[in-house]
Formats: sequence, structure tokens, C-alpha cells
Amino acid sequence: MTGSSKNRRYLLWLAIGTGVLALAMAILLVLQITQKRAIEKASELRADSITALVFQFEREFLRFRQTLESSVIRSGELDADNLGLRYDLFLSRLTLLRDNPTTELITHRPEYQNAMPHVDTLIAHADKVMAANPLSKPALAQLLVQFNNVGVDVQALSLAANSEVAALLESQEKTMLRQNNQIIGLTLAQLIFLLIAAGALALRQRKQEKERQALEDLTHELREAHFRAEAANRGKSQFLANMSHELRTPFNGMLGMLGLLESTPVTAAQADYIKTAKGSANHLLTLLNDILDVSALEAGKMTLKPEPAQLGALLNEVEALMRPQATEKGLKFSIVSQAELPPWVLADTTRLKQILFNLINNAIKFTDHGSVTVTIVPRERTDGNIGLAFLIKDTGIGMDDHVLSSLFQRFFQVDGGLARKFGGTGLGLEISQTLARLMGGAIEVESTQGKGSVFTLHLPFSLCPAPPAAAAVLPITPLTKPPVAIAPEPPNTPAIPATAANAAVQDGATPAPTSETALRVMVVEDHPINRKFVGILLEKMGCKVTFCENGQLGVEAAEREMFDLILMDVHMPVMDGLTATRTIRAMPGPISQVPIIVLSADVMNDAKEKALAAGVNDFVSKPVQAGQLQATMQKCLASAPSHAASQT
Ligand code: ADP
Repeated sequence: MTGSSKNRRYLLWLAIGTGVLALAMAILLVLQITQKRAIEKASELRADSITALVFQFEREFLRFRQTLESSVIRSGELDADNLGLRYDLFLSRLTLLRDNPTTELITHRPEYQNAMPHVDTLIAHADKVMAANPLSKPALAQLLVQFNNVGVDVQALSLAANSEVAALLESQEKTMLRQNNQIIGLTLAQLIFLLIAAGALALRQRKQEKERQALEDLTHELREAHFRAEAANRGKSQFLANMSHELRTPFNGMLGMLGLLESTPVTAAQADYIKTAKGSANHLLTLLNDILDVSALEAGKMTLKPEPAQLGALLNEVEALMRPQATEKGLKFSIVSQAELPPWVLADTTRLKQILFNLINNAIKFTDHGSVTVTIVPRERTDGNIGLAFLIKDTGIGMDDHVLSSLFQRFFQVDGGLARKFGGTGLGLEISQTLARLMGGAIEVESTQGKGSVFTLHLPFSLCPAPPAAAAVLPITPLTKPPVAIAPEPPNTPAIPATAANAAVQDGATPAPTSETALRVMVVEDHPINRKFVGILLEKMGCKVTFCENGQLGVEAAEREMFDLILMDVHMPVMDGLTATRTIRAMPGPISQVPIIVLSADVMNDAKEKALAAGVNDFVSKPVQAGQLQATMQKCLASAPSHAASQT
């Protein structure tokens, strides 16, 4: 039986019990009222008692008879006044007896019915005798005889009244006794009911106490389970952070070296092997990033970091990265905006790009012929805010209703065969949708099987002013033939200062730096492969590189000589990169101002925020990409005080 039906049953019994109790009390009330009436009647009877009336009547009858007798016997003059007084008193008692309602108690008695006609005849005669003046003694003697005859009837009447009242009292006593018994019975029933109710309440109380205790135990267990789960979750997060770091470190070496290998002279077949190996490594990296993102989103640890951003520049970047993929598949690719975009908005550019990359990547992946177009449609615009819709339209395989209804769910892929053909984790859309929601927007989809799909990313943005100096520093590649200018052309393309020509990515026309003009870069890194890879990259950029294997050695080197830039790993033995950064920042002289860029495989647990708080200028996550590292170096050097001084 469920708790609520038990409760209902209990309430029903309580209602029935209360009803019975109320009925018993009502009966008791009626009985009490009846008893009160009986008592009142008894006291009335006592006041106008029929016995008293009959007794007074009999007494006045006897007194008058006695006075009459002594008047008849005594010689001499009659005491007419006394006789008349006694006669009047007798008559008044008779009237009282007749008129009193209590007399009804005996009117049915044969004694009354027998006595009253005799009394009436007697009175008729007596009235005449008593009316004579003077009174006649012989008439009085005759009247005495009559009075003596009626005396027996009057006595019988008195006895009848006594017996009638006794019977009445007896019946009243019996009634009261019966009612008393009823009252006792009802009171007893009430008492039993109350005892049962009290017992039931006590039982219920005990049961409730047990239930409360059980609930408390359960809460305690749940809390413990929650703590255990939290601890396990913390363990999981820590494990993920460690795994992320451990996996990214060899990735850094692998992808880096493959990149370097790519730039050496190789045969066509070797170039193909390298490309395949790089593709697989990149795929693994995407997988790793997706899994880390899902667990961060699940743990609520993913926080957005909005910063002033140029949507035009961001879209140019996206376009530059996605176009080669589309071109490779023979697809037309374009990003267009239907209206001029606001120059600066607040956005978490990394996460916004992640959503766009995922949607565009899917569009290209699932389209074999035709085109992929990204259209930006401005929606509602209020003071300081703008809503934008990014429509990613493809002419690919499309989806049926069943697939559409299951999209955005974790690990969802149409079927194993298709997944094997196209690759992917089935996590991208879920991550993108969650990120879009975190940004206050959403992703919608429309699709027709065999015709193509349109994924629409709706996002609200806050407008903001341009940050100081940033406009001139960010490298912005313009879109290819935009229908509307998306990003303003940068005033001049910044570059690594002349001391460090970016030979790794620029064409060979740039003159190689001399040993005097070369950028002095210190690399603080404990992992030998990473040291080797970054070293080669920097040398290709024409930098003069000094290596240190931990933070302590880095600090000592900074004390000894001046550097133009430091690349710092975070997790290192002896002294970690953040402590080393803080120590260098606290040093006297210009070395404290040296630009420091953190290269870290730790992308979880607010690694970037911690690094920035320690005093680094920027953060590049591993695996390091040559272009990204170079751009970050350019940015840091351009805004460094020494560089600013040398420019002026
Ligand atoms: P995946 O890494 O497998 O692409 P996603 O979460 O990004 O994971 O996508 C889940 C599934 O949704 C894909 O496997 C595919 O079946 C379907 N899908 C996503 N985008 C498209 C598209 N543009 N056209 C057709 N199917 C798509």
C-alpha cells in the first residue's frame, strides 16, 4: 500500500471516529436536557405537590368537621364566625385542589371519581346550612353526620394521591436510572474510543518517527554517496586533466615533427604518408578535445571568456581554415553577411569558432557535390545588443525525420556504416548546442534527405568599443570577395620584428637575420622532444634560441642575460613555469618586462587564467601549431615595452 493511500485510510478512520464521538456527545446532550426537565418537573411537583394539596384539603375538612362537632355538642351560643371561617378555609382548599393542574395526576383514580360527587353534594347542602342566619343547631348536627360519611372518601382520596405521587416518583427514578446507565455507557464508549484514538496516534507517531529516522538515514546515505560521487568526479576531473596533459605532450612532438617533415623535400608518396599520418593525429586530437569538452560541460566547469572580438576577422579566420577542405572536395564555399557586421562585440572567440568549425566541417563532410555557404543574417538589434543568425547551408546527403529528432544527442551518428565512411565522434553537435546555449543562443536545423541541410546558429552579442591598440596588432586576412565588407582592412600587416624573420611560414624572399639582429628567445621546457620541435621552429624563424630544462634554470639564465622573448612550459621539475614567471617578473631591470608566452598541454582547470594571473603575456596550448605560435609571438612583441621603444 502506498504512503498516500495509507494516509487517506487513516484520515477516513479519523473522520468516522470524530463523527461517532460527536454523535455520542449529542445523545449525551439530549439525555442531560431530558434529565434537567425531569428534575425541574420533580421540583415543580414538590412545590405544588398533589399530596400537599390533598393533605391541606383533608386537614381543613377535618378541622371544619371538628369545629362543627364541638358546636353541635357544646350548649350555649354558637360561634358562627369561627364556624364560617373554617368553612371558608375548607372551601378555599377545595377550590385549590380543583383548579391546580397537578390534580390531573389523580383525576383518573376511582377514589377521586368516587369522592368528588360526594363532596359536591356535601357542599351543596353545607352552603345552605351555613347561609342560614342564625345558624340552626339541628341542621348543623345533620351536616356533621354527612361530613362523617364523606370523611372516608376524603381519607381514601388522600391515600390515592400519596400512592399516585409515589408511583410517579418511582417511574421518574427509573427513567433517571436508565438515562444514567445510558450516560455511563456512552461515557465509557467515549473513553474507550479516546483510548483507541490515543493508542492509534501513539502508534502512528512511533511509525512516523521510524519513517523520519529512515529518511534521515537515507539523506545521510545520499549525502555520503554525493560526497563519494563528488570525490570520484574530482578524481575523474584530475584524471582527465592528467590524461589531457600526458596525451597532448606526445601529440605536440608528433604533430610538430610531422609538420616539420612536411616542409622538407619529400617524394610524392612520402608526402602522402605524412599527410595521412597528420590527418590521423589531428583526428585523434579532435577526439581528445571533444571528450575533454564534454566532461568539462558535464561538470559545469566550462566557463565562457568573452572578450572584445571582431566578427569579420573571426569569420575570415574560419574561412581561411575551412576553404581548403571544401576545395579539396570540389565544393563551392563562401561566407557572406547580409548586412554590415558590428565592428566589435563581446564573444568567446575560441568557443564561437569551435561551433562554426564543427557545423561547417559537418556540412563539408556530408556533402559530395554542390556547395557549402555560410550566411550571417542580422536579427533583432536593441541598444548595445545585436542578435545574429549564422546559417550553414549545404547541398549534401541531408537527414530524415528520425535522424533530425535524435540530433544533438551524445554519440549520435546516423549509422555505423556512415560513421565509418565519414568519421567523427558523434559529440560535435551536442557540444556545439551546449556551448550555444551557454552563450544565450541555440542551434536549429532543417534538412531534406538527399537535398541538404541548414544548421542555424542563433546568438546574441553585446556591442563593445575597440580595445586600445588591438586593432593594429591582430593579423586579419580579408574574406575572398565579400558581398559586404566584413572586417576592416588592417592599417598595416604586423610582422615579427626585423630581428626575427618568420622564415618558417613566409616565402623565402625575406632576408635571413644575422646573429646580431636575431631575436633572442629562451625556451624553458623539460620534455626533450618538445624542446627539439620548438627549437627547430624558432631556428626556422631565424631566432637565437637558449634552452633550459626547468624553471629554476630559466630564472638563472634570465639573471645572467637579456632575452627578447621567453617560451615557458608550465609543468616542470624543480621549479614550475608559473613560479619561474613570477620570479622573473619580480627581478630588477628590463628583463622583468620580457614577453613570456606559456606553452602548455594543460588546457583544463583554468590553466590559462592561472598563467595570466602569474604574469605571462599569452597562452598557446599544445600541440603547438607553427602559425599560431608565430602569430602570438608577433602580437606579444608588438605590444612589448622594449619593442614600442625601439619603434619610436
Ligand atoms: P560527428 O563527429 O559524427 O560529425 P556530430 O555530433 O557533429 O558528430 O554529428 C552527429 C551526426 O549528425 C553525424 O554523424 C551525421 O549523421 C549528422 N549530421 C550532422 N551534420 C550533418 C549535415 N550537415 N548533413 C547531414 N548529416 C549531418
